[in-house]
Amino acid sequence: MPEGDTVWNTARVLHRALAGARLTGSDFRVPQLATTDLTGWTVRESASRGKHLLLRLAAPADHPGAAHWTLHSHLRMDGAWRAYAPAERWSARPAHLIRVVLRAADAVAVGYHLHELALLPTAQEETLVGHLGPDLLGDDWDPEEAVRRLAAHPDATIGEALLDQRNLAGVGNLYKCEVLFLRGLSPWTPVGAVPDLAGTVTLAQKLLAANRGRWTQSTTGSLHRGQTSYVYGRRAQPCRRCGTAIRKEELGERVTYWCPRCQPAPT
Ligand SMILES: [Zn+2]
Repeated sequence: MPEGDTVWNTARVLHRALAGARLTGSDFRVPQLATTDLTGWTVRESASRGKHLLLRLAAPADHPGAAHWTLHSHLRMDGAWRAYAPAERWSARPAHLIRVVLRAADAVAVGYHLHELALLPTAQEETLVGHLGPDLLGDDWDPEEAVRRLAAHPDATIGEALLDQRNLAGVGNLYKCEVLFLRGLSPWTPVGAVPDLAGTVTLAQKLLAANRGRWTQSTTGSLHRGQTSYVYGRRAQPCRRCGTAIRKEELGERVTYWCPRCQPAPT
């Protein structure tokens, strides 16, 4: 599932494949960019902010308008970028899911099922990501600011508040469920009743950071299939700590997994 760590990894893959390269061709397969041609543009860098990907470009000297542009994309639940060698087969996903192809001399980047694909002047990036809370995997990660933002809405459930990217950016459903299990918190606990918000956001940051640089997401320390999570995706299976059946229910717009014994309901 694309969460902050996956997006961070994806940004690094794109950076390694394209940073410094001059594009020899582009092919946008979304209506809003159908006439855009990035041939001759140079890739400056690839970065992530929360779950947003920012591919920063320099326009050719004769391009009217801004010199620096950002190709923005969001992976949501199902998007992906892959980098291929020029002659390599694009095997990651079916071709009809391709939304953009960026070609350079040494690499081809293919974006599958991307969301919110947009090209805008880099100076306007904040219009897309300025609302985000502190980035868990950013150089400027600020746990105190994340706690401050969470605490500003004490009646929200902690399960929904951790997913709200305006509070802190990068936590998706998997890490939300796992952090709450590890802290012994019911997902329905009001933020104002969480005894140690700072400890909760610090743990979330550690879990994401531990999964940087690999594609298997594990919160248990094990990379073996079926052993990578405590509660996420484990409905009706025994809790690894107490043996109680893990439960799954809707919370807000998402499902949540939890152990009713290790994470007792708020009183
Ligand atoms: Zn349990």
